Amino acid sequence: MNIILLGPPGCGKGTQAKRLQDRHGMIQLSTGEMLRAEVESGSDLGNEAKEIIEAGKLVPDDIIIDLIAKRIQEPDCQEGFILDGFPRTVPQAEALETLLKEQNIIVESVIEFSVDDDAMVKRIVGRFACTACGRGYHEEYQRPLIEGVCDQCGGKDFMRRADDNEETVRSRLADYHRQTAPIIDFYRDREMLVSVDGMAEIDQVTEKLETIVG
Ligand code: AMP
Repeated sequence: MNIILLGPPGCGKGTQAKRLQDRHGMIQLSTGEMLRAEVESGSDLGNEAKEIIEAGKLVPDDIIIDLIAKRIQEPDCQEGFILDGFPRTVPQAEALETLLKEQNIIVESVIEFSVDDDAMVKRIVGRFACTACGRGYHEEYQRPLIEGVCDQCGGKDFMRRADDNEETVRSRLADYHRQTAPIIDFYRDREMLVSVDGMAEIDQVTEKLETIVG
């Protein structure tokens, strides 16, 4: 099964994509994570994208479309994938539609997380993750069970994303409303869209997704 998760930064797409991957085996394709890996590796693409990401702006469509076009052809995507953070503009949604048609790939559901902007700022500014395993935490809502130790792998180093500060988050949210929200109508017109309440508890959102993904 192939699905697309849509929603502003902080809405829970990444967390739920990881859970779907663990339960159903589809591969999470997070364009944000792919780009951060490029930045980390110091590749030409990473160097080009670094400043854009840190300013909370969107990377040019052609770069990101190319990245996804290559990635979905890899063998691990053949059993299904979850697009997390892509598409983010109407041209990206159109390019994806063409790409999928050419390769006879069907997306079964486009799931939109509906949330409140101010709550997203609070969620993002407080979040951090284990450097070793990537397990996500939040200063207020989800601290490690033992202070300073990752629940999942016992790691003791934690990191914050460079773009998770209030100013950048506000810019990312503004971009979401201007550039990404229009693709909700794009998928609604194609009768592919399902909405979930992204303000609900994490486990409740997971339960709701289970009813959709089955
Ligand atoms: P995310 O991890 O999804 O919040 O993405 C982090 C950053 O990566 C974004 O703020 C953008 O700078 C860049 N990015 C990720 N996905 C896309 C995309 N589909 N189109 C353009 N830029 C993207």
